[in-house]
Amino acid sequence: TVRIDFTGEPRVLTVSNQKGGVGKTTTTVNLAASLASLGARVLVIDLDPQGNASTALGVPHSADVPSVYDVLIDQFPLADIVQVSPESPNLLCAPSTIHLAGAEIELVSQVAREHRLRTAVEEYLASATDRIDFVLIDCPPSLGLLTINAFTAAHELLIPIQCEYYALEGLSQLLGSVSMIQKHLNERLHLSTILLTMYDGRTRLAQQVADEVRQHFPREVLRTVIPRSVRVSEAPSFGQTVIAYDGQSAGAVAYREAAVEIAQRASAATHENKGEA
Ligand code: ADP
Ligand code: MG
Repeated sequence: TVRIDFTGEPRVLTVSNQKGGVGKTTTTVNLAASLASLGARVLVIDLDPQGNASTALGVPHSADVPSVYDVLIDQFPLADIVQVSPESPNLLCAPSTIHLAGAEIELVSQVAREHRLRTAVEEYLASATDRIDFVLIDCPPSLGLLTINAFTAAHELLIPIQCEYYALEGLSQLLGSVSMIQKHLNERLHLSTILLTMYDGRTRLAQQVADEVRQHFPREVLRTVIPRSVRVSEAPSFGQTVIAYDGQSAGAVAYREAAVEIAQRASAATHENKGEA
């Protein structure tokens, strides 16, 4: 078993890609569950009105449940809406409800509309009685105000890329938005991690796409790739991550390896910084 030291500053990652169906939600919940199984305390913020991350984490999110909507629009503290996933006491979720669908429009006329989530996360991390090691934000498939709130709140951007045709299409638009955010709203945000998802090693296409992405982003792409696996796609219908649903399956093993890489990269980066100082 791998032992990882989670003593650093909390890391806030936004899992984003304006394309739908590339594995954002699947990656968010399974990395979160993997990190939790390694001993980290992890908060998932479900920022997609679809609420798929809340479902996969087994957290109630019907219309009457206090949610991220109340945090963004009525400035509820995050602590008032966070629930513990039945899967692990280390796995927390700020659920999304259907109300979040209206937030994109309602935010337009609000003061500090881009900073609502960041303020809430900072207050939560400063006051959480238990330490938090990771915050993972699951974004909707758009570059609207919800995603801008995630970019403004996060330190790191994690992009899941599906090994398919047009994998790189839209990426320059995404990275363009990120540099606008860096310039105007959040200097700290940077692309730290790319994860190749739904990989089918039997097809030449998947290999070609993986090679191409690695050529463009040699430092960011994780060594681990997530295979296409039925167990991964079945798990949410049981209100579970694949880590709980079938921990021995290829998908679960891959997500745990990806989580180890992500956790270890942080300590490597910290050592580099210390070396330079
Ligand atoms: P997004 O959040 O980007 O829209 P999802 O995570 O919801 O994407 O994934 C889209 C679909 O692909 C879902 O039905 C999900 O179950 C399925 N899926 C994601 N990753 C895998 C995988 N590794 N193997 C098989 N199916 C997957
Ligand atoms: Mg999703």
